[in-house]
Formats: sequence, C-alpha cells, structure tokens
Amino acid sequence: MSDNLYGLLASRFPTDRSRPCFRLPGGAAIAYGDFETRIGLAAAALRSAGVQPGDRVALQVEKSVEAVVIYLAALKVGAVFLPLNAAYTEGEVDYFLRDAEPALFLRDAQAFLAGAADLAPELQVEPRAADDLAAIIYTSGTTGRSKGAMLTHGALAANALALHEAWGFSPDDVLLHALPIFHVHGLFVALHCAFLSGCPMVWLNRFDEAAVLEGLADATVMMGVPTFYTRLLAHPGLTREVTAHMRLFISGSAPLLESAFEGFEARTGHRILERYGMSEAVIITTNPLDGERKPGSVGFPLPGVDLRIGGGQETGVIEIRGPSVFSGYWRMPEKTAEEFTADGYFITGDVGRLDPDGRLWISGRAKDLIISGGYNVYPKEVELLLDEQTGVRESAVVGVPHPDFGEGVVAVGEGQGDEAALIAALRSRLAGYKTPKRVVFVDALPRNAMGKIQKALLRQTYADLFR
Ligand code: AMP
Repeated sequence: MSDNLYGLLASRFPTDRSRPCFRLPGGAAIAYGDFETRIGLAAAALRSAGVQPGDRVALQVEKSVEAVVIYLAALKVGAVFLPLNAAYTEGEVDYFLRDAEPALFLRDAQAFLAGAADLAPELQVEPRAADDLAAIIYTSGTTGRSKGAMLTHGALAANALALHEAWGFSPDDVLLHALPIFHVHGLFVALHCAFLSGCPMVWLNRFDEAAVLEGLADATVMMGVPTFYTRLLAHPGLTREVTAHMRLFISGSAPLLESAFEGFEARTGHRILERYGMSEAVIITTNPLDGERKPGSVGFPLPGVDLRIGGGQETGVIEIRGPSVFSGYWRMPEKTAEEFTADGYFITGDVGRLDPDGRLWISGRAKDLIISGGYNVYPKEVELLLDEQTGVRESAVVGVPHPDFGEGVVAVGEGQGDEAALIAALRSRLAGYKTPKRVVFVDALPRNAMGKIQKALLRQTYADLFR
C-alpha cells in the first residue's frame, strides 16, 4: 500500500465535493471538487515539466490558494516540496537553490497553473513509502548556514493524524487560516488538520486584525502565532460576542506571554491552547483539548512522542524521539549525527523542564535564537553581515522585548557608524524580519573571562529599547 501523504489527505476530502474548501474574502469560495481538479492539472504540469519522483520542487511566492495547489500536486507526483519565504533576497534564495538543486523553481504560481489549463488532469497518486521524502524545510543555521530539515510522508502523516485527534477536528469545523504557508505551522499543522477533516477554511492571505475579526464569524478554530493574539488584544473589536461561537484558539511557533493568555481569557472567555513544535518534528507537545491549559506551559508530548530532558539536571535541553521527527538535514550527514543522541533522540536545542504531571515548560533557547513576529532570526547570520561593514569591529545581535513582535532585533556594534545607513545596507541583503530595528554603538562589547560576549547582559541593558 502506498503511504503517499496526498493519498491520505485526499481520502478525507468530503464525499460531497461541492463542499467549500477555501472561503475567500468577498464571499467567493473554492469547492473541494474544484480544488482536487486543480491539483490534478498542476500535477500534470509538473510531470510535463519533467519532474520525477524524488525531485525537489521549490516555490517562492506570496501566500495563495495556487501555492497550496502546487504543494499538493508536488506530493501527488512524488516530488519533494521546498517552500521558500517570499521575503528572502536573491542572495538567500541562491543558496537554497544551489543546496537543494530543485528540478523546478517556481516564482509565479498563477502563470504555472494557467499553463496547465489544457492538460488532462493527472489522476494517479505516485506510490511512496513512509520513509520517502515529502518536503524540505530550511531552518536558519546558527553558524549562518541554513539547514534543510527532511520530512517524510510518514512523519507528516503521523503528526497530522495525531493533531487531528488531539484537537478534536471534525467535518463541522471551519478553520481560520491567516498564517504564512512557507513554514510548518501554516503549511502542515493548519492545512493538514483541515484536509483530514474535509472541512472548509476561512482563507486570508495575510494577517490583518479587522479581516480576522470578520472571518471569525464563520470559523470554529483559529491557529496563530503569539503576535496574532497580542494584535487582536490591541483591537477594540475583540469581544466575547465575536468569539462566543468559537471552539478553539491555538497558539505556537514562539512563547505565548502569560499576560496574553490571561488578557485573551478576560476579554473573550477562551483559554488559548498553546503547543510547541519545530521544523524538525512539526508538533511535539500540546496543552489538552479537554483538561487544564496552563499558561506558560506547552503541555504534554503527543501520543507516540518520547520526550526527556538531557544533561541530568531538572532543566536542560529537550530531547525527543517519535514518528514525526525529521530524517536528517539535507546533505549534512555530520551535522545530523551531531544533533542526535546515540540512542536516537533529537537534541532540540530548546531548554525546558518537565513538572511532576508530565507537562513541559520551555525556559529558553540554547542557541540564542530570536523570534520576531513568529519568525526565527539566528543572530549569527546578521552578525556576519554586520561585521563586514566599515566602522563595525565586532557585533552582537540579540532579541529584546518588543510590544508588537514579541522580540525585536537589536544589533550592538563595537566601533562607530551611521545607524540608518547600516540598517539600509543590511536590509538589501536580509529579509525584513531579520534586519535589526536598531543598531547601537559601544566602545567595547561586554565579555566574560574567556573572551565570550555576554549576550544576557546585552539583553538586560537594552531591555527597554522598544518599551
Ligand atoms: P521553527 O523551526 O521555525 O518552527 O522554530 C522552532 C522553535 O520555535 C522551537 O525550537 C522553539 O524554540 C520555538 N517554539 C515553537 N513553539 C514554541 C512555544 N509554544 N513556546 C516556546 N517556544 C516555541
């Protein structure tokens, strides 16, 4: 039997294919039947472009239904889907293309599908084994080099089925989808839950408070990053009445502030369900659907996930093993080996502790990762570029509290320079969310006795920069 993920998802599409899959702003809708036909056409177009099973198909486009069609078509023909953030610059994209060597790189989804209109829809689902690759998700590397996390059909299917069950999805649900789809959260977590339920989605191409509040009227479940919730809280339209019919609000990709959890409950009566995940394993733990959701905790491991704290202390690096864990970094066998223990646990790099009930509490990130607006920024990548600039001897990039983005990127440079010019120079080489919002100059960076820059001290010093 084939383990192609597309086969599983399509087997759960509603029997009545006239049911809506995407509800678009303005009232239009795309039915499951129409969606399935478009996927067949896109699959035929991929085949006629010469894409073979196992080939990578890279897609760098703004969020759209067409992008979802191409994702599922890639699965259908047995290709490996490679989504790229539309905000990546040419230099960044160049690296991904050289590393992944896709057979096809698409930057205009609409044009590609228009070219498929005259083809006969591909009906066959390419047989795939559970351990065949379905997608590669690039995560920025701490050394500045991005690593491609390889996810198989089996891993994605196992996680999707576990979440569908854990969060109680049914055909009666309507999912509000306002997340980007170049990242596991919007691409796998959200879409797969909807497809496995055969339920409709309220589809928004970007997050906008007013549009989300309007969309909630037709929805039962919303998934978001913490920034969505803090922005909704800042909007007077978020009320108990507007959310009264909602079944579930889910948050993840970055820590949800306890104040946001409490503020949301006070305003709406809903306790946000927080879960924890990463590109390398999709979702790992979740607060319960039934049972207590504790603010500040990311809940319990999903069924089938073994989770432990490494290092022999109460608090340490979280290690995991389970069906959804990735199968390694693309073409980086040594790096992959370094990040697994001898007994097969993946070393997540996140620091946390388990309480006596078995709940996980995340206390920080071992690798100084910054999460700004739900997106990961690895300081090293920015520091390397800054250090090339004249006037900057050495730099340290940290995240400090930011009222809108959770964390804001701050660069501290040893030396002297023009802040605005430096930010402009970096902006031309980095996605906007990675570019420092402030560059501060100092005579000397604080260092410990071993000469290491004390980032914790920098975070303290600049804690109020955006407040
Ligand atoms: P990514 O690979 O982009 O999905 O980023 C994964 C990282 O996001 C994890 O390793 C965590 O550091 C962080 N993360 C995701 N969800 C949560 C959460 N609920 N609380 C705290 N950190 C989280």
